[in-house]
Amino acid sequence: MNKISVGISACLLGAEVRHDGGHKRSHFCTDSLSRYFDMRPLCPELGAGFSVPRPAMRLVEPTDLDKPARLTISRTGRDVDEPIRNWCQRTVPQLGSLRGYVLMGKSPSCGLERVRTYNGEGNVQRRDAAGIFASELINAYPILPVEEEGRLNDPNLRENFIERVFVFDDWCQLIETSLTPAKLIQFHSRRKFQLLAHCEKTYRQLGVLLSDLKSTPLENIADQYICAFMLAMKKPAMRGAHANVMLHLLGFFRGQLESVERDAIQQSIHNYLHDQVPLVVPMTLLRIAERRFPNQYLHQQAYLAPYPDALGLRNAI
Ligand code: SF4
Repeated sequence: MNKISVGISACLLGAEVRHDGGHKRSHFCTDSLSRYFDMRPLCPELGAGFSVPRPAMRLVEPTDLDKPARLTISRTGRDVDEPIRNWCQRTVPQLGSLRGYVLMGKSPSCGLERVRTYNGEGNVQRRDAAGIFASELINAYPILPVEEEGRLNDPNLRENFIERVFVFDDWCQLIETSLTPAKLIQFHSRRKFQLLAHCEKTYRQLGVLLSDLKSTPLENIADQYICAFMLAMKKPAMRGAHANVMLHLLGFFRGQLESVERDAIQQSIHNYLHDQVPLVVPMTLLRIAERRFPNQYLHQQAYLAPYPDALGLRNAI
């Protein structure tokens, strides 16, 4: 399997680039993710020409609140915003080959959503800002899966991020080989149950969107499709939704499974719904059923195997 290109804050890979000369190595990223992802490290502050070590920096709100907060040396208040914005302007447009990004939280450059900003007197103004590089990245690539490393400790958010990276990579490969109506329908067909587990409303809307591929240019439909798809995928699938989808899949084996086998799968879906077993248990039973009674339509469903089993993601949710 070719590794998927994913960007990462360099300090998370163990590079000693932080302002104090240290790093924030993430073992999950270096040991697990790097088996499947080609992790591409970037340090915006180093790229912008700051040294290691360097004074700590923070975001300061300007007096004109319509303007973005500016990067400032915490101790002296010196404004050092320009170099990092210039670096972002040069670098962000070159990141189009990435299929995901893991960012270091709380940093005024890399933090995704819980970065503090301060006023001129040094008092905290907000606790929910994004760092300068992170905001440029998500503005330029709104459907790119992006997550903070700290949030990857939550098994649901971790699974969700990795699932999104695999979906997005699949989509990008499709686009690169020139899109046709048949390929778009195939993509949707393969990922129907996956989408249904995340958002039934989007699942229905996209079904309608794809029912007429003639009246609007295909590229416009594809843009609309993938934006809605990736937005729906951002919300982790809930237990109830997974249980519904699995019961639906079980229906495909009507008349094939013995009633005792069918009851066992139903029981395991019930146990999963009530948080007594992880998702991998009923999912494995469904996959075994599909192997015993091969079904082309089910076989192609990404929902049954959205990423490599060795990541063990469904053991923890
Ligand atoms: S958080 Fe970002 S800017 Fe800060 S050291 Fe890590 S990679 Fe560099």
